[in-house]
Amino acid sequence: MKLLLAGEIRSSFAMTEPDVASSDARNIESRIVCDGDTYVIHGRKWYTAGATDSRCRIINFMCKTDSEDEPYRQQSMILAPKDAPGVTVVRSISVFGF
Ligand SMILES: Cc1cc2nc3c(=O)[nH]c(=O)nc-3n(C[C@H](O)[C@H](O)[C@H](O)COP(=O)(O)OP(=O)(O)OC[C@H]3O[C@@H](n4cnc5c(N)ncnc54)[C@H](O)[C@@H]3O)c2cc1C
Repeated sequence: MKLLLAGEIRSSFAMTEPDVASSDARNIESRIVCDGDTYVIHGRKWYTAGATDSRCRIINFMCKTDSEDEPYRQQSMILAPKDAPGVTVVRSISVFGF
């Protein structure tokens, strides 16, 4: 957290998904599954501003943890290290100056 506050690393926010109308969080399809003492994330995001920045170490990943609960109580956020196993940054998007 101190590194983030000092601007030495940065975070990114991953909510928008290619396959759903992402302005409505009820549509989110990414999932977190608790597996023993760890969490497994399943999902694909895009428009994650800053994710390709070399200083980006943390991804604020929005997903669903309980699809049986009320529509606005199904979502959770998890802080995922960008270098966690299975995280793949596919490409930069060719807009917003890149
Ligand atoms: C500069 C920029 C930076 C961004 N950075 C990030 C980021 O860092 N992280 C991230 O996760 N995303 C980011 N985004 C993505 C942005 O947040 C999403 O594009 C936005 O939430 C809209 O989602 P969508 O593209 O799926 O559009 P949709 O949800 O498909 O919406 C398209 C249009 O349809 C309308 N609409 C949708 N559902 C309904 C409905 N049920 N009834 C009536 N109208 C409806 C919407 O109001 C909108 O006008 C960024 C976008 C921009 C432009």
